[in-house]
Amino acid sequence: MQIASATLAELAAALRARELSSDELTRAYLGRIEQHDPRLNSFVTVTGEQALAQASAADAILGRGEGGPLTGIPLAHKDIFCTDGVLTTCGSRMLANFTAPYDATAVANLQAAGTVLLGKTNMDEFAMGSSNETSHFGAVRNPWDTERVPGGSSGGSAAAVAAGLVAAATGTDTGGSIRQPAALCGITGLKPTYGRVSRYGMIAFASSLDQGGVLTRSAEDAALLLGAMAGFDPRDSTSVDTPVPDYAATLGDDLAGLRIGLPREYFGDGVDAGVGTAIEAALAELRALGAETVEISLPNSHLAVPTYYVIAPAECSANLARFDGVRYGHRCDAPRDLEDLYKRSRSEGFGPEVKRRIMIGTYALSAGYYDAYYLKAQRVRRLIGDDFRRAFEQVDVIAGPTAPTTAFRLGERVDDPITMYLSDIFTIAANLAGLPGVSLPAGFADGLPVGLQLIGDHFAEGRLLNVGHRFQQATDWHRKVPQAYA
Ligand code: GLN
Repeated sequence: MQIASATLAELAAALRARELSSDELTRAYLGRIEQHDPRLNSFVTVTGEQALAQASAADAILGRGEGGPLTGIPLAHKDIFCTDGVLTTCGSRMLANFTAPYDATAVANLQAAGTVLLGKTNMDEFAMGSSNETSHFGAVRNPWDTERVPGGSSGGSAAAVAAGLVAAATGTDTGGSIRQPAALCGITGLKPTYGRVSRYGMIAFASSLDQGGVLTRSAEDAALLLGAMAGFDPRDSTSVDTPVPDYAATLGDDLAGLRIGLPREYFGDGVDAGVGTAIEAALAELRALGAETVEISLPNSHLAVPTYYVIAPAECSANLARFDGVRYGHRCDAPRDLEDLYKRSRSEGFGPEVKRRIMIGTYALSAGYYDAYYLKAQRVRRLIGDDFRRAFEQVDVIAGPTAPTTAFRLGERVDDPITMYLSDIFTIAANLAGLPGVSLPAGFADGLPVGLQLIGDHFAEGRLLNVGHRFQQATDWHRKVPQAYA
């Protein structure tokens, strides 16, 4: 078996048939990480010893003919998820010394399913970014072209999966951070409905938008992982108490009669020609599978990015107030007094993008400006949600490009925040509306991967994965691995 391109489903079958042990598989990935990660920088922490111990426990379970489909499967978690006893940095100097005292619920659920923790992946600082260049631990490189970014903020997870350093990884998506890096790295990325996966133990950026999800090789793998990761959690008051469906059961449903809406706002001038061509070909494939496409409109689309850049910074300024140098995280040397402690610890601990957001957010929430900015943004957010509500009266899913361009060069957008923010122009609206979205590998433009985004109605993850799976049965874009890592 080719480890680099193997799916979870294939690995699980090999483990259960005892063709492969979890120990062998874990060692194979650790070897690949050692070989390739010095260049890619996709991991912040590799938990080799712990992984081998977990693998041998999994092998014992598998040896007795017990365990589930994920028993013995190595996984990596984005370094935003708290992992008991393991460094959890959130890509920041602020938490560069923070060992979490407990597991996030998503981590605990996947652990209970028998997975092996390989390590923690690099990310933009506090998940703020679209290129993984804001990480305190340095940029991550895109395995398709190491002079280019992998996307962000779950760039480490995306690069690691794309290069076959691990078969799947977790991520979080506040405005596109699972789907956009999945698109730029040529893999599958699923952001579930807001409330589907617990946020407990997931370090908060913008609480009303953050949602945990998965980066995988295939839609089938995403179904397998989401089923284990999702579910109601009494420790997250926004987690939703509805049963988790058997996502695998509906993967094979026929697409005949499926109505796919194509928002005219997602197919315009702003999309690179090569991306547009690949997306048109993918849509033709979906039509060949029986779906029909209809043009729709999401008239408030142009307001999504500005709305997000009021709401997300406002919420981040409140969430990041807890990093004060007192309780945990970075503390400055020899503070003169309490104010000096706060000021210097925060000035030293946070990078420039995080500071920019805290300042914008604090301003937007301040007395006299709250109504003009935050409240107004919340009202526009409702209009954006209403656009989708109307659209889903006409269509079953919405499709378009995940990102307007393919992977850009390292350094190209770092000094231009507005251009960087526009990387998420097609992904942000789904977060504002709390909707699920998936990015599927859909071809290449000039040798770089293109992602097709599907957005579904609330809790329609099963349908998105079904469409993704049928598409992947008919195409092999999700099978491609960059040559140097094959
Ligand atoms: N790129 C967006 C931002 O910088 C989204 C990040 C995310 O989804 N975490 O905020």
